[in-house]
This record gives sequence, C-alpha cells and structure tokens, in this order.
Amino acid sequence: MTIFGGIEAGGTKFICAIGAPTGAVDKKITIPTTTPKETMAKVIEFFKKNQKQNQFLAIGLASFGPIELNQASVNYGYITSSPKTEWNNFNILGVLKEIFNLPFGFDTDVNGAALGEQRFGAAKGLDTFLYITVGTGIGLGGIIDGKALHGLTHPEAGHIFIPHDKSRDPFSGICPYHKSCLEGLASGPAIKVRWQVKSALDLPDDHSAWNLEAEYLAYAIANFILSFSPQKIILGGGVMRREGLLKKVQLKTKEILNGYIKNKNILTNIENYLVAPGLQDESGICGAIALAEVAYQNSLIDRF
Ligand code: ZN
Repeated sequence: MTIFGGIEAGGTKFICAIGAPTGAVDKKITIPTTTPKETMAKVIEFFKKNQKQNQFLAIGLASFGPIELNQASVNYGYITSSPKTEWNNFNILGVLKEIFNLPFGFDTDVNGAALGEQRFGAAKGLDTFLYITVGTGIGLGGIIDGKALHGLTHPEAGHIFIPHDKSRDPFSGICPYHKSCLEGLASGPAIKVRWQVKSALDLPDDHSAWNLEAEYLAYAIANFILSFSPQKIILGGGVMRREGLLKKVQLKTKEILNGYIKNKNILTNIENYLVAPGLQDESGICGAIALAEVAYQNSLIDRF
C-alpha cells in the first residue's frame, strides 16, 4: 500500500502520523512543543520506528511559523521569527532531511489544513477557499485557483488590522508586534487576558465576550471575502469550538457586508458558506499527509 508520513507542527503540540492518500490516518501520536531539541528527537524517533515497519514514501511537514518557503533562500525550511523564541531561526525541515532521505513537502500549518479540507473535508471540489484557525494564534491558509497561496512569503492574515472601538473595548491587545491587530485582540490568549480568566473556556456562552469576538472575526472575514472572493471559508481552531460562536460570526459577517456581495451563498445561505472544518481536528494532519503525496508525485516527475 502507498503510505506517507505527515507532521502537523503546532505551537503547542506536534501531531505525527502515517497515512494513505485516501485520508485514512494511522499510528497518530501527539508530542508537546517544548524545545526544538526535545520535540524533534521524539518526532524523529516516531518516523524511524515506522520507517522500519511501513516504508513510507515521503513526509509532509505543515508547520507553525512564520516559515521560509522560498526554495531559493538560504533559510528555506526555517521557522524564522516565531514568538516562540526557542524556535526562532530553527531549520525544522533541515533537521528532518538530514535523517530521512525522502521527498519532503513543506508548507504552513494553515495551508496544510486547507489542503486537508480540500481533499477530504468541507472544501471538496472547490478551488478557491480559505481556512482560518482561531486558537492560540490566528492564521489563514488559502487555496486560490487550485494552489496554496504563497507570494513574497506566505499570508499572515491573522495580523490584519480591524476597527477597534476603544470606548467599547479599551483592551490594548497582546500582539508583541502590533498590539491590537486581529490576533492581538481576538486570539485565545487575548480573550484570556482581556477578561482575566484562566481560559477562554471559563467564560459562559452568554458572556458579552463572544459578541465582541464574533464582531472582530466578522470584520476580518468580510475583508477576506472582499479581497479573495472565496467559494467557502472554513473556521477551525480551539476558540471556534465555542457553542454558538460560529452562528454569531455568520450573522455579523452578513451584517457588515450589508448586501454588497450579491451572491446567494452570502445573502441566504451563509450557514453553508462560513463553516466548521469537515475533518474536525484532523484537517492539519490529513493536509500534511497530502503535502507528502504531492512531494512524492513531484519527485517522480523530476526523475524523468
Ligand atoms: Zn500582530
């Protein structure tokens, strides 16, 4: 059977798995993100063990970032300026390539999740859509016209600027770079600090925090709809699991757009346009395995 390795490298945990191109994920393990040395040793151990048993053909790495994706750069494969300082300037791809002589796919964690959703989840059959994660950070991955969105680097749309009415929300934001960008105002840690709770989960469903959260996300989403004209937007991440939040975001986005985009998906069918991930928590790891498959196919083409 054709099988691939996948790594979803996140800021709090790494998920490693072996899987098939059909989306079936096997032998999944979770490793806490501590230091690069400690975490990567466990990742390598997992794949070494499985390589003996399963002979996988390629590895896909979908990583938190920012990461360097330009293959012409000397820093290709590095995590560059992460707020997790121990991972700053760390050659995450290089460490794996030294050990495993295999084709590697490499992209952002959110582009990986978008790819997973396109292959097996809520974006099947679509060629232009976005995946947004709202959790410890806020990230955006995009497939535009069938291709993962890259450019100068990769989108960092979690850091866009949205209206911030300080008379209603005097919280100054927590982004170390911009204070009150979207991530600074609406990530899980921002909710925690603003409302002085141990976890965003401690806030009841009817707390005004969730209306504010929905409003900030809806402003960002309206901007993304106006910029990219996606066929669908998938909203994942820990914060989005809050009961009722997705509904609030749908209504607020429609209100902000105010009938400007004359398309039934937004005007009358927004519940099927702004949606939860079809794969729940598996978008990222399925996407990482899909990245491995693409890398393997490309390596076959390169050979001839
Ligand atoms: Zn920021």
